[in-house]
Amino acid sequence: MWMTAMRISGAVGAGVIMVAMVAMPTAQQPAGRALTQEEMFRRNVGSREDQVTPFPPHRIVGNLYYVGTHSLSAFLVATPDGHILINTNWERAVEGLKTSVEALGFAFDDIEIILGSHAHGDHMEGDALVKEMTGARVMAMALDVPALRRMRPGDKPHPIDRELQDGDEVTLGGSTLVARLTPGHTKGCTTWTMTVSEDGESYDVAIIGSMGSNPGFQFVNNPDNPTIADEFREGFRVLQSLAPDVPLGSHPAMYGMAEKYERIGDGPNPFIDPDGYREELDPVEALFMQVLREQEAAAATERR
Ligand SMILES: [Zn+2]
Repeated sequence: MWMTAMRISGAVGAGVIMVAMVAMPTAQQPAGRALTQEEMFRRNVGSREDQVTPFPPHRIVGNLYYVGTHSLSAFLVATPDGHILINTNWERAVEGLKTSVEALGFAFDDIEIILGSHAHGDHMEGDALVKEMTGARVMAMALDVPALRRMRPGDKPHPIDRELQDGDEVTLGGSTLVARLTPGHTKGCTTWTMTVSEDGESYDVAIIGSMGSNPGFQFVNNPDNPTIADEFREGFRVLQSLAPDVPLGSHPAMYGMAEKYERIGDGPNPFIDPDGYREELDPVEALFMQVLREQEAAAATERR
């Protein structure tokens, strides 16, 4: 969540650390110029309006659907035994989320399980309200539970019905999602993987939890989280070990959703994009490494 990042930024007094160069261009940016930390962050979170305005809901692949906003992803896995929702997003956007689910012909009330990308309010603040509306069970990575417990919109306690560990499976109506711990952005940041079928083929899907190194993140000598840099390295290690056919992420800009949406119906499914996974991941990792090196250099200068 950006507000947390801004607060941290103020607290450490470091301000916004701007980073100019990373190695590789992504599909979402002009070749030859990489995004700075600030630009990458802005690309992901969009405007305040983008965060709460529903994007036209659509089928992505198999029984996986997009029901999020212009800048915050929410995914619905529709099964004959009810549905799994990944990300409830801001509580004030829940009405729009419900409208998107219903526009696809599904009943909101049939949501049985609520999962999330990571314990920041832009992705998971709506959990309590959606649970109230649907009776769904909320399942979250155990390492994110302390942060979720502090997330209390309108002073509602954050519901947690099942705590997950790395590799745990969530199954409903013949669909199975696997929770992969990809820490760094938060302690329990979760990348969801699943296999879906379409036209007799099966496809591996990965929904990246986020490896964003937001402006203000302190990787060196961070008293609140001394191991944050190691957590990021572990998150990248896990993500680099995956090779999904359908790369997705907690923000739609992480997989070029708007541009792919325009191509639905002309030719092959645009969301099947194995190359797109590394085109996103590699520059995000390079940016993290660059910021880490800058912060290490700054800390070394201070020591002298
Ligand atoms: Zn976040």
